[in-house]
Amino acid sequence: MKDLNDALAEGQADATEAFLESLPELAAGETFRFACHPQVPCFNACCSDLTLMLTPYDVLRLRRALGVSSADFLTHFAHRVTIPDSGFPMPRLKMREERQKRCPFVSAEGCKVYGNRPGACRTYPLGRASRLDEAGNVMEQFFVVREPHCQGFEEEANWDAAAWLADQELAVYNAANDRYMRLMALARGKGARLTSKQEQMVWLALYQPDAFQDFIAKMDLFRLVEIDEGRKAAVAADEEAALAFGLDWLELAFFGIEEGLRRKRPPRPDAD
Ligand code: SF4
Ligand code: SF4
Repeated sequence: MKDLNDALAEGQADATEAFLESLPELAAGETFRFACHPQVPCFNACCSDLTLMLTPYDVLRLRRALGVSSADFLTHFAHRVTIPDSGFPMPRLKMREERQKRCPFVSAEGCKVYGNRPGACRTYPLGRASRLDEAGNVMEQFFVVREPHCQGFEEEANWDAAAWLADQELAVYNAANDRYMRLMALARGKGARLTSKQEQMVWLALYQPDAFQDFIAKMDLFRLVEIDEGRKAAVAADEEAALAFGLDWLELAFFGIEEGLRRKRPPRPDAD
């Protein structure tokens, strides 16, 4: 995928949008031919020497599939990089230390984490550009990214963007990633880089929701915000809920935005 990934790797969303927009846009309902399966002659050719940036939701799915803690996953499978324009920390998947630099999850049979592979692996051969309109709705555009080595375009299957997204089960990835992109866009909009303390908080709250759950309990973060018992229980028990809380928490803590979480205010002195 050449959208979110390259944008994050380069720290230049504008450059990536320009790249995507240089490609032919796939109009709504327009189709492309593509299939990828073990019988294509290039099978696995694209799973080496990648700059594969991982979003918070990618890490959540991968670490859970592998049965390791987020901290162990990040230590063993990722390099921590800092996005130049915003100071956001982000993991980049470590390729194997060998000449081919294969992905650690590729095998002769294909992807060993197929059911939980990153959103970028699912999206290819599409590129997806998303932005918020004035009402805050996500606007999407799709582009077909034809890489010369990829012979999947010779296959018979026909897809439009909606069918490809559904087939690759991308809705949940895109929803989580769009939420994350919104946080980064807010930071870029402020024109200020994260402080090192904020960077640590992003690394914990977004990339280690299992550890963030412990942090929430230890620091009793719920006492600072208005949150009902149902959400408290969900955040404590469920990592997706903890990640959503983390995103809301960072928007509140960094930018004072109270859309997802409201700061608890002391009762007014004249209140009963
Ligand atoms: S995670 Fe799977 S699909 Fe993605 S690059 Fe690695 S082996 Fe290929
Ligand atoms: S290069 Fe294209 S067809 Fe070949 S394995 Fe990768 S995505 Fe599939």
